[in-house]
Amino acid sequence: MKGNSAMQKLPPYLFARIEKKLEKAQEEGVDVISLGIGDPDRPTPEHIIEAMARAIANPANHRYPTSVGLLSFRQAVADWFKRRFGVTLDPREEVVALLGSKEGIAHIAFCFLEPGDMALVPDPGYPVYSIGTILVGAEPYYMPLRAENGFLPVLEDIPEDVARRAKLLHLNYPNNPTGAFADREFFMKAIEFARNYDILICHDHAYSEIAFDGQKPISLLEVEGGREVGIEFHSFSKSFNMTGWRLGWACGNAEAIEVLTRFKSNVDSGVFQAVQEAGIAALSGSQECIEEMCAVYQERRDAVVEGLNRMGWKLNSPPGTIYVWAPVPQGYTSASFAELVLDKAGVVITPGVGYGQFGEGYFRIALTVEVERIQEALERMYQAIGKVEF
Ligand SMILES: *Cc1c(COP(=O)(O)O)cnc(C)c1O
Repeated sequence: MKGNSAMQKLPPYLFARIEKKLEKAQEEGVDVISLGIGDPDRPTPEHIIEAMARAIANPANHRYPTSVGLLSFRQAVADWFKRRFGVTLDPREEVVALLGSKEGIAHIAFCFLEPGDMALVPDPGYPVYSIGTILVGAEPYYMPLRAENGFLPVLEDIPEDVARRAKLLHLNYPNNPTGAFADREFFMKAIEFARNYDILICHDHAYSEIAFDGQKPISLLEVEGGREVGIEFHSFSKSFNMTGWRLGWACGNAEAIEVLTRFKSNVDSGVFQAVQEAGIAALSGSQECIEEMCAVYQERRDAVVEGLNRMGWKLNSPPGTIYVWAPVPQGYTSASFAELVLDKAGVVITPGVGYGQFGEGYFRIALTVEVERIQEALERMYQAIGKVEF
């Protein structure tokens, strides 16, 4: 029972070796500090939980939801989008609720790709862009994200025949795993590229709210022409510490949203309405919880950057996301360095190669544990490894 050819083509699980070691270390009683997983550690804000508690008691919410989502939910999205980005969305035509943005990102491939097509996928990147592509029998084209280009893909480097075969362009800024931001100029270039080759831009904006030092990431849809060629995926997971609730939305180009909605209405039956009510509370309530959370992540980011720089790194602080992306020292691969850090310091970091071949030579630290634990992790690394060279 091997599964079909698409399933057999899915990449192997790269963290298996580290996970085995982690299990063993924990069995031996080592106090392992995991900076591996990007899952927010703080609870969902109280007012959101209360809205859910009220909604759960309402029998109207016990029935099948619609796939597209409650109109009141889509209206709350549109209102939030207007306040946050100055963009007016039509909640009836330009917004669809998602069972977490991962669901929409995977399913968009089923809506727009077929065998022989290509999707342009950032590397390193969130694995779902290429996995969706592979599952429909289409082919990912990996666009390298390099430090010297600010971890932005160089669209001019994409071969002409690839651009012609491509139907989707996946982007994600603020970026997981590199922490990079994209500016308006980059989105303008991407929009022109998408127009020239008749490509749909899929912008994954999961980290739209996680930014430091007073920065505010922009939306693809606030850039001229963005809505003609693109859709944007949003998530409650990181903005409101709601990874377990499974709630997000896609918005933008009305035709693309209609196709995605039609696909979804055939494979799922939507998001539990009480969860959508919680989402409405999150979007229409005070956004102070986001500011507080960003302050927490910023303090943790500073602890990581200072700790690594003390050991010999020369990192600039990432402007957002819940990650620090750093090169491995001389003489190591991303996997061998991650193993060393686990063996010698009892600290889990993620090898960059897990995010694609161009992630080789890097590792990722997630800012999802308390700052004291981060400081301890870096102190242990310093004691175990000392100064490093590049
Ligand atoms: C966490 C994350 C998401 C969010 O996924 P959900 O399904 O909404 O929880 C999407 N994209 C990236 C790059 C992420 O890191």
